[in-house]
Amino acid sequence: MKVIYPGSFDPITKGHLDIIKRISNLFSEVIIGVFVNSSKNQWFSSEERVKLIEKVLEVEKLNNVKVIKFTGLLVDYIENENIDILVRGLRAVSDYEYELQVNLTNQVLTNKKFETIFLTASREYLYLSSSIVKEVALNNGNLLQFIPSVIINDIKGKAQIIIDGRKK
Ligand code: ADP
Repeated sequence: MKVIYPGSFDPITKGHLDIIKRISNLFSEVIIGVFVNSSKNQWFSSEERVKLIEKVLEVEKLNNVKVIKFTGLLVDYIENENIDILVRGLRAVSDYEYELQVNLTNQVLTNKKFETIFLTASREYLYLSSSIVKEVALNNGNLLQFIPSVIINDIKGKAQIIIDGRKK
């Protein structure tokens, strides 16, 4: 089955990677969908976010996983690419409320039959979000617990650019 795991991934964290590994064991074809436009305060362009994910996938040798970026409605992509399942991760109750709203909206927006499945975050990553990673990076904290080591320097480099920009 072909599944899509969409998100902003700004940047990819160990929490995201945990979900990716788990679904790559369950399904034959996994597509990580990077939203080009997001209302969130973004550090990385969509191209940069895709590159960071590709770096991680290469190290992890997840051969049935690929990454794409997309604009427009997720349901349109799902329809055009014949995707069977949409995967999202759930951390706190707040995630659930938002996800339920998006899920119900998706059902109204398309006639295509697909299921959305939710994987609960693993205990060690329940607290982890891309925003937390950015906050830690800005304050020069140790990122090893939060993001795959292969991208640590990229995140540190971007944090420095942001810090320098704020000084101006
Ligand atoms: P979005 O901008 O769509 O919320 P994110 O990049 O923040 O995208 O996250 C993508 C998906 O991964 C979402 O379903 C989110 O709930 C899930 N996710 C984010 N962090 C974690 C984590 N630490 N553990 C499990 N799932 C997570």
